[in-house]
Amino acid sequence: ARAQAMEVDESPDVTYDEIGGLEDQMQEVREAVEQPLENPEQFEQVGIEPPSGVLLHGPPGTGKTMLAKAVANQTDATFIKMAGSELVQKFIGEGAKLVRDLFELASQREPAIVFIDEIDAVASKRTDSKTSGDAEVQRTMMQLLSEMDGFEDRGDIRIMAATNRFDMLDRAILRPGRFDRLIEVPEPDEEARHKILDIHTRNMGVADDVDFDKLAAETEGKSGADIESLTTEAGMFAIRDERTEVRQSDFEDALEKMDENDEETGIVTK
Ligand code: ATP
Repeated sequence: ARAQAMEVDESPDVTYDEIGGLEDQMQEVREAVEQPLENPEQFEQVGIEPPSGVLLHGPPGTGKTMLAKAVANQTDATFIKMAGSELVQKFIGEGAKLVRDLFELASQREPAIVFIDEIDAVASKRTDSKTSGDAEVQRTMMQLLSEMDGFEDRGDIRIMAATNRFDMLDRAILRPGRFDRLIEVPEPDEEARHKILDIHTRNMGVADDVDFDKLAAETEGKSGADIESLTTEAGMFAIRDERTEVRQSDFEDALEKMDENDEETGIVTK
């Protein structure tokens, strides 16, 4: 049913080497998600349970979805994504049913990585739990937690979630046996921005005058997603000028355009 609310990717093509920076985060994801899928006996021998759920938190566009897709790629797992906002439904019981469908699908396609983006949509601290809408959201969250509880019997399914509103999360979902591994995915620093610029210009014609050190410094406050748009925009400037190589001036023009857009929309690029 309702499979259209889910994004199913049998073999996501994102690899770890396409992720700039985030070395520690990659290491943690591999330990918490990849190891239990590939060497479950290691956990048995040591006598510990692998983390039940991994929560990635940090600003938008910093690579959280990429990390989840890369681990699915590495483990040959099906990637099943659902947005938390999709789980907030009008009719009673519909959100909970979607959660059941999600895990049902995962068990048909294991090994699988279930990735719930914007988990805050169903797991926020309640300001007023008396309204019926909130009660319904609460029920959906309870269904999610109960599916996670039934996990050990489920075999090769790992669950990941992401949020950029960590502060708003209901702490109940972070208890042991739930999302018990937290990984912070920060805005990229200068070194990470340099790597992200390198990654997104790998397949571009780049002129000799392009100064990636300077661009890394100038993109302070920009996310990985912003840097990706920047390289595309710089390429557009080159095309407009009928060139096949992107120059430093194209990047500078693209940066200027981006900042102007941010001013107009009042949205600060983060
Ligand atoms: P959101 O919270 O908005 O869902 P996210 O953290 O999940 O964002 P992604 O969807 O992983 O962000 O990133 C969006 C795009 O931005 C990626 O497809 C990629 O092109 C680029 N990007 C983001 N972070 C990085 C990174 N660390 N290295 C390389 N590219 C990145």
